[in-house]
Amino acid sequence: VTDKLVRGGHVIFDPARLPAGGRLSHGAVVLDEGKVVAVDDYDVLKARHPDAEEIGSDDHVVMPGLINTHHHGTGLSMFQLGTGDDYLEPWLLDWFCTKPLDAYLDTLYACMKLIRSGVTTVLHAAYSRDWKLFEPETRASLAAYEAAGVRTAFALHTVDQNFFVYQDTDEFLASLPTKLSTRVRDVVAETAPPTADDFFTLFEQLHEEYSAHALIKIMICPVGPQWCSDGLLRKLRKTADEHETGLHLHCLETPYQREFGLQSYGKSTVEHLYELGILGPDVSLAHAIWFTDRDIDICAETGTSVCHNASSNLRLRSGIMPAPLMLEKGVNVSIGIDGMALNDDDDMLQELRLVSKIHRLPQGFQRPRPLTSAEIFKMATVNGAQSTTIGPRIGTLVPGSEADIVLIDYTRIAQPYLHSGTDVADAVLHRGKGSDVDTVLVGGEVILRDGEFPRLREDELLKELAAIAEAEPEPRVRRWMEAMSELRPHVDRFYQGWETPEYDPCYTVNSSI
Ligand SMILES: [Zn+2]
Repeated sequence: VTDKLVRGGHVIFDPARLPAGGRLSHGAVVLDEGKVVAVDDYDVLKARHPDAEEIGSDDHVVMPGLINTHHHGTGLSMFQLGTGDDYLEPWLLDWFCTKPLDAYLDTLYACMKLIRSGVTTVLHAAYSRDWKLFEPETRASLAAYEAAGVRTAFALHTVDQNFFVYQDTDEFLASLPTKLSTRVRDVVAETAPPTADDFFTLFEQLHEEYSAHALIKIMICPVGPQWCSDGLLRKLRKTADEHETGLHLHCLETPYQREFGLQSYGKSTVEHLYELGILGPDVSLAHAIWFTDRDIDICAETGTSVCHNASSNLRLRSGIMPAPLMLEKGVNVSIGIDGMALNDDDDMLQELRLVSKIHRLPQGFQRPRPLTSAEIFKMATVNGAQSTTIGPRIGTLVPGSEADIVLIDYTRIAQPYLHSGTDVADAVLHRGKGSDVDTVLVGGEVILRDGEFPRLREDELLKELAAIAEAEPEPRVRRWMEAMSELRPHVDRFYQGWETPEYDPCYTVNSSI
């Protein structure tokens, strides 16, 4: 018995074949046991499956769920928690100063926003809200993804060096006024941040526990090369091989990270990772902004994916990823929100629109060239599937694909008038918003119906989350937050003497040259 028939006036079933192919008008997708079993004309499929539950109408656009390949499961944004945007390095201290929220409720809220904007798979780069609660927070985040019903590539995080700045932690602390360094050492000792050993223990457990899970895949997140020793990176690569899972790293997000690589390795960080044997088709690099031409070639050669975080990079003044050049050279480029969307709302459709606009330079510039709607859809689906290492069973709606499906109300996008000749992919990309997403299925299950979550008591959860955000932190946490806020200006000062690199091949929208 087939269980569902999902129909639309427009069905985009294979974004890789846009703009000419991969789509149907007045089409439908038949689902059985969480998978797509047929895609064809609606009338043909309806006649064949008259008893299947019907979802959608000719007013809907049906498309594969979007894949957000870099997020931290942050529900309430840093801005909502009282922190403005700044450049990344001191902003990370702001993050440390922010009161840790309940990881379950906060991740669940993130899921709600993502689902509402058409996301069905998240590559979750884990992080610690409260470093003392490594395992309970990790399990709470995982439980939130399970509760929301979102497909997740959950990359468990680890670091073993350079906690506060891109310098040995002891060396940096020794350079501070004695009173402050003592205070920071005290709160670190009291917090007992997770060690690499803690990581390996928990990773083994989770990998085992989730090995048969339909929606969750456990991955590994070396948070970034500057925060992980070469020994740790090698060991993580080996662990990934042994467990047949992938690695997800932040890489060359800022000019200072580029400088760190040049100073520490005597070469670009990407070349260094390549020589260490870290890179490959099961690796994705978030941000990936400060790449040389050679770095881009290395990613193309090794099949390493990169993740475009356009909003986050604007908000944290990190730079603009040379995505069109990367695509031209054959690199797999996907899209992530990083919990830092332009409208502070985790709207993936808005993020796609930003990616489509951010590479538009005046006519006459040799590069970059503008990206097409087809390319953007492919980045957010098929390429995303590769970045998550879940692979081609997500990102399309062809027989055998997972039934991860988004229905967008096209009448909302087109109202009160839209030229009838408008390409539907163009219309969704140029005018679509999260609020136009009507229904979302993951693995054949409806997790959003008519804009509501059948599984979740949204109002109650959000009230609870807000109350936690408002509550006073416990004394241990307060001591940590106060020490971090005292440390922040010293972190800012640390970078003031650093050289800033040349821009090529990265570019700025308005060059100062
Ligand atoms: Zn990030």
